[in-house]
Amino acid sequence: MASESPATPRIPPVGLESPFGKARSMVFPRTVLAGHGVLSELGNVCRQFDFPSRGAIVTGPKTVQLAGNQAAEILRAAHFDIDVLIAKEATEPEVERVAAEARAAGARFVIGVGGGSKIDVSKVAAARLKVPFVSVPTSAAHDGISSPRASLHDRASVASIEAVVPTGIIADTSVIVQAPFRLLASGCADVISNVTAVLDWRLAARLRNEEYSSTAATLAEYAAQEIADHAALIKPNLEESVWLAIRPMLVAGIAMSVAGSSRPCSGSEHLFSHALDRAATKPSLHGEQCGVGAIMMMYLHGGDWRRIRTALHTIGAPTTARELGVTSEEIVQALVAAHRIRSERYTILGDNGLTREAAERLATVTGVL
Ligand SMILES: [Zn+2]
Repeated sequence: MASESPATPRIPPVGLESPFGKARSMVFPRTVLAGHGVLSELGNVCRQFDFPSRGAIVTGPKTVQLAGNQAAEILRAAHFDIDVLIAKEATEPEVERVAAEARAAGARFVIGVGGGSKIDVSKVAAARLKVPFVSVPTSAAHDGISSPRASLHDRASVASIEAVVPTGIIADTSVIVQAPFRLLASGCADVISNVTAVLDWRLAARLRNEEYSSTAATLAEYAAQEIADHAALIKPNLEESVWLAIRPMLVAGIAMSVAGSSRPCSGSEHLFSHALDRAATKPSLHGEQCGVGAIMMMYLHGGDWRRIRTALHTIGAPTTARELGVTSEEIVQALVAAHRIRSERYTILGDNGLTREAAERLATVTGVL
């Protein structure tokens, strides 16, 4: 008798005998609602998700008044048992505290209602508790409202960490329009900076054989193009402007879901922004810094950096060190240090980065200094 049955199929080890060994997973939000008054759908959406009855809303001291309490009422009306937890800054101890409170309350799902930092705290807390998360942004200062990544700060630095893709995103334009316009302009700048992120990704695919998705890249570029095309229409106190800005921000999130990483929306301009967070005494907003970074990185790529600058300027986002509120020295230091922030992320900055002289020249030629 043969020791091996001839009926047993033999699966060749991937990459040896089989010519095909590719596999990829994509995690998407199940429901994305954007527009006027969509917050009122929160209860229905959570019902559709079949969430268990106990959940927690994580919100901020101000956003609780703006939308947090309202979200709680809507959920209670849909027969959910809801605790409202107030989060402060996005730090590791705060995430731990919020996660412990949510756990003690028996929360089986988490709704983040707030600006970037509250969404980040609730996103990471939900990931720690291994429960689903719904994002209800009250401002749109960066593409993190729909991405699986979150930024946590400590005294010395900012770390971007992996969390969960939101199960649902409810972006109510009538709520977001009440946030300061500077935040929306910053979110637009974050999306515009996709253009250099995608160029860096292509470079890494060519030089390092990094896995590349043209679908994800096209989505990210489309999002940036949409913002640039509508730059003149993005204005303060206008709900239509929030509508024009928020949809590309959600598309950027989808691009990251398709790629399975932040690659299509985060390249050398993001490395510059992270380096500036460390170099500056008073760093500016994430999206604002990425926008200025994109002007300079586009110059290095030999592309149309003036077009990026014009779009940012038209929206009212910063294009210079002065407008960012940082010093020339801090810009130069950030440029010189940027390539060391995340060495596995290959970009136009290469392995050795810029010399001090090249950094000074780059910032001067592009009008940042
Ligand atoms: Zn960003």
